[in-house]
Amino acid sequence: MNSRKEPAISPVRTAIAVLAVISSSACSQSDEAVKSSSSEPVTIINHAMSQNITTSEGTIEKNTEPKTPMENVKKVELARKQCLKDMESLEGREKKEIESACARVEIFGACYSVKGTPIYHFDAKSSNERGKRILVFALIHGDEGPSGSVARLWMERLNKIEPRNSWRVVPVLNPDGWRAKTRMNANKIDLNRNFPTKNWKKESAARWKAKKSDPRRFPGKIAGSEPETKCAITHIDDFKPGFIISIHTPYGVLDFDGPRMQFPNFKPLRWFSLGNYPGSMGRYMWAERRVPVLTIELKGNENIARKLEQFDHLQDISGTVAIQSEKILKK
Ligand SMILES: [Zn+2]
Repeated sequence: MNSRKEPAISPVRTAIAVLAVISSSACSQSDEAVKSSSSEPVTIINHAMSQNITTSEGTIEKNTEPKTPMENVKKVELARKQCLKDMESLEGREKKEIESACARVEIFGACYSVKGTPIYHFDAKSSNERGKRILVFALIHGDEGPSGSVARLWMERLNKIEPRNSWRVVPVLNPDGWRAKTRMNANKIDLNRNFPTKNWKKESAARWKAKKSDPRRFPGKIAGSEPETKCAITHIDDFKPGFIISIHTPYGVLDFDGPRMQFPNFKPLRWFSLGNYPGSMGRYMWAERRVPVLTIELKGNENIARKLEQFDHLQDISGTVAIQSEKILKK
């Protein structure tokens, strides 16, 4: 049976885990077992090399994949270096923990920013057959640092355990924005308005004008035009998530686009619906594809490193909502 918690590690279990690592024994099948975090060999990923992305707004051309195995190995090494660089600029646990997690990241050929920065991802597969597939995006808006810190914490945690759900974390979807500390990407486009939702052209332009053409919310001129948006859609196509978590700041709420359900209590952030917009992830995935989206809106000045347990608990709660919402949808 699934435990109620996500992958919590009790001191006893940690001690057992340390012994397990020392003796290099294989990890157990239990949800909460800790697995060895030794670095894994470079994996070459060549998913969907020649496919384009088809959406209701037309076909979006995918970015190109490297052509030789050597290019692939190099691109993974560069992605791992980029991970370390990004993660060190965020709050988290000890350095060695993120070094170990970054040694596991991978990258798809579609996943480079406007300026060519790698957009890597971290996978933690569950052996639990009933585990859900949870896809996490952070730093979609480059000026929302705490969102990247929570993604870092979750990667560090997932790196040490065998979780009850399968997780994929894309901790920095907008690396150019993160570097420049801007909400938008390097083309000055708000990625969370650029997803190719239905009637995007008409609706996104109308909504933008209604919001006084705020440059921070510019959706772009073509749906799904941005390489970072294409990367996110590549992950959605490849990972086939049953649940998406999108981490932002600064509203301090948990906003759920999904079936009606009773939410678990999480004191630091109340449940509150912010609605969704043309071109947003919430509309693209829940309103049009029936994949629930949990938007975590952290407080703007959140000090993540001082609240490790709180954000571990938030991961547990998110996993529980994923499990419960899928149950409701299957009814
Ligand atoms: Zn945001």
